[in-house]
Amino acid sequence: MFDYQSFNIRERESFWKFPTHYDECMEILDKKFDSFDLKDSSNYGINEKNELVFIDYGMSKQLYNEQWVPAVERGEVPHIEIHKCDICGIRKEIRIYGEADNDRRCLECGKE
Ligand SMILES: [Zn+2]
Repeated sequence: MFDYQSFNIRERESFWKFPTHYDECMEILDKKFDSFDLKDSSNYGINEKNELVFIDYGMSKQLYNEQWVPAVERGEVPHIEIHKCDICGIRKEIRIYGEADNDRRCLECGKE
């Protein structure tokens, strides 16, 4: 985890190609547009040349800090943790709703 972002796309660089000017674009989005979670792989698609295509702007850092984080703390929206699912036993992303949530089932095993 880097700078509160959930997954750094640079960690799996060999799986895809970075388009020309990728770093410059990320810097502009970060500095001028207050973008957030720019390096989360779920925000990208891959084109026919196996290059990353940024598809999801998501939310601004300001919105994240002022509204998303408090909503997560209240348990209104989930945050994602990696756990072994209590039902299927596979280690994967589990949605957690607040600190009191001990339900460790994955989406496929019925947790929403
Ligand atoms: Zn499961």
